[in-house]
Amino acid sequence: MVFNNSREQSNIYKNKPKESIDIYKSKKDFKKIGFDVFNSWYSMQEKCCAYCGLTALESLQLYFRFPESTRGGKRGKRLELDGRDSSIKDYSKLENLILACYWCNNAKTNYFTYDEFMIIGKAIKNIQKSRLIK
Ligand SMILES: [Zn+2]
Repeated sequence: MVFNNSREQSNIYKNKPKESIDIYKSKKDFKKIGFDVFNSWYSMQEKCCAYCGLTALESLQLYFRFPESTRGGKRGKRLELDGRDSSIKDYSKLENLILACYWCNNAKTNYFTYDEFMIIGKAIKNIQKSRLIK
């Protein structure tokens, strides 16, 4: 059977979460594994920062509370993708991917390792919790 390309495109996203579609489309590497594989992985992820535990909703709350801290509102609205091993640049290696909040991802850069930033993430968690209460 021959599909019209645009119809085929829209069918793979039918009834799928918009957030998953948006993140899938944000990285060309994901095309190597396809949307269904990505979406299965994404749906299994706990929607919180691997380092500080901030949830997607809490990230959104901090985004609105501290708009000046998010690169002019460009980041922070949702959790971001980060690599455990930052030397692996291929986003299709799902076993390397974690979800991180903007603040941890921005502070970690490629300087700190995953294990090192897990220690720092505990301190960030305490600060984030106090800012959410204020
Ligand atoms: Zn975090």
